[in-house]
Amino acid sequence: MRIFSGIQPTGRKHLGNYIGAITQYVAGQDRGEAIYCVVDLHATTVAYEPAGLREAVYDTTATLLAAGLDPARCIFFRQSDVLEHSELAWLLSSVTSFGELNRMHAFKEKSGAQRELVSAGLFTYPVLMAADVLAYRATEVPVGEDQRQHVELMRDIAQRFNARFEETLVAPEVRIPAIGARIMDLQNPERKMSTTGAGVQGTVYVLDEPAAITKKLRASVTDSGNEVRRAPDKPGMSNLIEILAAVRATTPEEIEREFDGSGYGALKQAVADAVITFLEPVRERYQEVRSDEAELEAILAAGAEKARAIASDTLLDVRQAMGVGPVRQRR
Ligand code: ATP
Ligand code: MG
Repeated sequence: MRIFSGIQPTGRKHLGNYIGAITQYVAGQDRGEAIYCVVDLHATTVAYEPAGLREAVYDTTATLLAAGLDPARCIFFRQSDVLEHSELAWLLSSVTSFGELNRMHAFKEKSGAQRELVSAGLFTYPVLMAADVLAYRATEVPVGEDQRQHVELMRDIAQRFNARFEETLVAPEVRIPAIGARIMDLQNPERKMSTTGAGVQGTVYVLDEPAAITKKLRASVTDSGNEVRRAPDKPGMSNLIEILAAVRATTPEEIEREFDGSGYGALKQAVADAVITFLEPVRERYQEVRSDEAELEAILAAGAEKARAIASDTLLDVRQAMGVGPVRQRR
């Protein structure tokens, strides 16, 4: 089994990323060959500051290391260091349909939020994401619910490539957690907690101080009732129950039973306490890891070298199948 996933270095990572993706990355190291990537090329598709991007790559790298990624047990690198991703994205764009890209929910949401340029890169983003994963012939992609459609698209791309040329690429399975796959914004529980485009008050950051976490959870938007249970017309309450179930590694039903008759205040306090305990070890390790940029660079460079060895082999097969470049010499 080969696991691949990427994470954006845009802004600070949040509780949704942590529950939906990062905990799965850490667990993946014990389940198979795990490959993770900080996707800086994806971050350039929306408005950003060049100097800030480099810093954000270090922030995200340090966050993942503090969370438990171990360079001895996984391949961990920066996307732009492995040039094969970009070329493969171009080649795969020839077996991606315009109509499919046009149906991507993420593009519709993100393009609507852009104040200035809606870049072509934002539109073709899912092709680069397909290249990220297909370059490693990964069998599994751990992500949050919002990425399901992009993984379905890369499966289609792989299958279309194999049918059009020759059997070269692997269509990976999506792996979405049963609980916590879509953590919602605390101030606006109709939309997902997000790195970009949401307010600070509705977003619990992985590196938030305990006092800030308590404040945000206490102020989280709920309905006017007092019953601790999940329901379509209680999105805020449903979200808090789901968060508590995820961080305690139990079920939402169990949380509903425990807080039956307790009221919203008690639940909010319990969620705050549990989230603080859950994130504390990461925040404590982060400062130390983040302070050594030379070491972060060394880790990313070593990861890129291992990644390149796999991706370059796939790219040569793809070129060969498509008739691009010279005939591949088999060793
Ligand atoms: P943006 O909203 O700008 O796309 P993001 O918060 O989605 O940023 P990404 O780096 O794109 O951050 O996502 C990293 C991983 O976190 C992906 O696997 C994604 O599915 C997952 N994820 C993102 N938001 C949530 C959420 N609210 N709940 C659960 N998982 C999430
Ligand atoms: Mg995202």
